[in-house]
Amino acid sequence: MEAAHQNQMKAHNILYNVSSELGDDFDRAGIGNANATLVQVFTTSAKRTFINSILAEILTLLPDATVVGATTTAVIHDGKISDDDTIISVCEFDSSEISCSVAAHPAEDTDWLLLGQKLGEDCTRENTRMLLCHAAGPSLNAENLARGMTDNLQDTVLAGCIATVPRQGAESLVFCQNDIYDDAVVLISLSGEELLASIHFSTDWMMLGTAMEVTHASDNIVQKINDTPVREVYTRYLGDEAVREFESTSVRFPLLVDRDGITVARLGKRLLAEGGIELWGNLYPGEKVRFGIPSPVVAMEDFKFLIESLHEHPCDALFVYPGQVRMHLLNSLTSDEISQFADTAPTAGMFTAGQFCYSPGQFSYLHYSQTTLSLTEGQDKVRDASSASLINPFSQDTLEMRAVSRLVNTTARELEEANRSLEKLANTDALTGIFNRHKGQVVLDQEFLRARRYSRPLSLIMIDIDDFKQINDRFGHQAGDDALIHIANTIQPLIRQTDFFIRWGGEEFLIVCPETSVEGTAELAERLREAVAAEPAPGSTNITLSIGVTSYRPEDSQDSLLGRADKALYASKNQGKNRVTTWD
Ligand code: GH3
Ligand code: MG
Ligand code: MG
Repeated sequence: MEAAHQNQMKAHNILYNVSSELGDDFDRAGIGNANATLVQVFTTSAKRTFINSILAEILTLLPDATVVGATTTAVIHDGKISDDDTIISVCEFDSSEISCSVAAHPAEDTDWLLLGQKLGEDCTRENTRMLLCHAAGPSLNAENLARGMTDNLQDTVLAGCIATVPRQGAESLVFCQNDIYDDAVVLISLSGEELLASIHFSTDWMMLGTAMEVTHASDNIVQKINDTPVREVYTRYLGDEAVREFESTSVRFPLLVDRDGITVARLGKRLLAEGGIELWGNLYPGEKVRFGIPSPVVAMEDFKFLIESLHEHPCDALFVYPGQVRMHLLNSLTSDEISQFADTAPTAGMFTAGQFCYSPGQFSYLHYSQTTLSLTEGQDKVRDASSASLINPFSQDTLEMRAVSRLVNTTARELEEANRSLEKLANTDALTGIFNRHKGQVVLDQEFLRARRYSRPLSLIMIDIDDFKQINDRFGHQAGDDALIHIANTIQPLIRQTDFFIRWGGEEFLIVCPETSVEGTAELAERLREAVAAEPAPGSTNITLSIGVTSYRPEDSQDSLLGRADKALYASKNQGKNRVTTWD
């Protein structure tokens, strides 16, 4: 039995007890003879003097150890959660090595990506298998930090978390050796051929309500969603009260975004004076977000996969980082989950304000779900996942929540569909099915602005049917209508997908051609004229078109541009109809 345990790491989790000697605990556990020792201290104490004395005591007993840690709302110790304890997790490695770097008190305007890159480079060795980060501080952008730290990593995972406050009003702190910081990033690395480090995660979030687009954002500062200041969006959907109590509600209603099939939560850190919001991670313009709620159903279903993978790959030490929100909102469920972790390996951990979670090719920063880090030295030990005993994912007390979220989401989806068909109706000409004048004006405004702002080409084709009154007079109004449909159907397939085809007036059409030169547009207009002239319309009359073509000039207003297209068209009429006139 002993032999099997040689050449591999040992993990011990010690519940710190003020009245007993730490030295005795270490002796009993046989701690103190390893090549490299990593000690992590997770504490719910906010007292710096208390933390200082623990760090000093550990370093006296294990002078060569690397000691890191963080404060938290609650610690996890072999299957139990406690909001009033200190856990000392000692990992003794046989062949792996530890290195450590700290960025203390970063400047207000820190480039977190750069800082992350620097810390990552400092810490990473040739055979580094794992980076472990603890961070705290008011200006932290954990997403950019994580991206920086994981730049160029290949076989290395990143784990760790952001410290939380033990209780309202206390500081969140991170530690490294003898030092305690309220504003620092502590990064350690584990390197060695024998080391296996893997991360897993589970999510809790259920999307709720309508999809919104991020319209104005720069990294973790989001000013507008759906072109509306974020504060208004929160007020509209969550109510005044939620905005007044922003710091606690933002934790319960994050913005969710789908990134590569993974639901990522972005939580508000604080509201900004101008109506924007600062988040713990980033959102980018164009991303679609919805509000979310923590859902026991989602949490339990996802947890099933997590615990199965942990059972499949037993490890020597397991670290667990649940989001703080699980404490309050998934309370008993979280205890059930944590107790199951203890069956897999010695387990320690803490509740966090956000987790680092990267393995090559994956994203690098999550929020308020749950992540785990498994460490093993020596061989991967695969076993059958069926040894996992799972909790029942459908308990009665979640029925209402599931029903309410289904109600909200179904309503939102139906409204989105109704909106889409209303929008289509409002923009479409009922007779021909192409854009109507109203939509045409919107398109023209937008394309005109774009051409002017970026100095891009923009051309117009203005079309009027020749002698259309006669068709009505000879064959009746219905035949006139049929002829309009026929002409729209003839033209539509000949223009580009990026051109806009508009019924501009009764028997006048406008085609807006972005990114098209006047020559190209004139050729297109000629093709259209020929195509319509060549095909007899219903009633077997031949219909012809008079066409004006022109292009945007830097000195143009929208009126002068349209006016020129009109004049070109009337030149075609005056010169005998059935022709294209181009005014460059
Ligand atoms: P021109 O060659 O100078 O363009 O002569 P025109 O007869 O085509 O004159 P104009 O461009 O002024 O045509 C307007 C006529 O188009 C008036 C109206 O009878 C007809 N018209 C406009 N909209 C519709 C429609 O929706 N359906 C039908 N059937 N006729 C329409
Ligand atoms: Mg006309
Ligand atoms: Mg006409």
